[in-house]
Amino acid sequence: MSRGKLEYVRGGHIHACATSLIMKTGGWRVFTPSVEEKACNRCKLCVWFCPENCVRLTENAVEIDYDYCKGCGICAHECPKRAIVMKREEG
Ligand code: SF4
Ligand code: SF4
Repeated sequence: MSRGKLEYVRGGHIHACATSLIMKTGGWRVFTPSVEEKACNRCKLCVWFCPENCVRLTENAVEIDYDYCKGCGICAHECPKRAIVMKREEG
């Protein structure tokens, strides 16, 4: 949709193949999740609950793709070990 000089993309709308990849929702973020690895029991709940599918467990860590993390805090809310803390972004 075009209004004057600004281009708008309808939210939550996949309008062509793989457009979800170019919709980098990380720009929406006000709070950033930070993982305390020592507290993590590797239950994977954060992976399953993340609506952006941007959390993954590697062999040694919980990795968050900040290009797509919109800072909703669901991962922190669902973490049974309180291993994820939401921190307000600076600036
Ligand atoms: S939900 Fe919490 S405890 Fe479970 S894997 Fe994620 S960070 Fe670790
Ligand atoms: S804050 Fe939201 S979008 Fe970011 S990793 Fe957690 S659940 Fe996913």
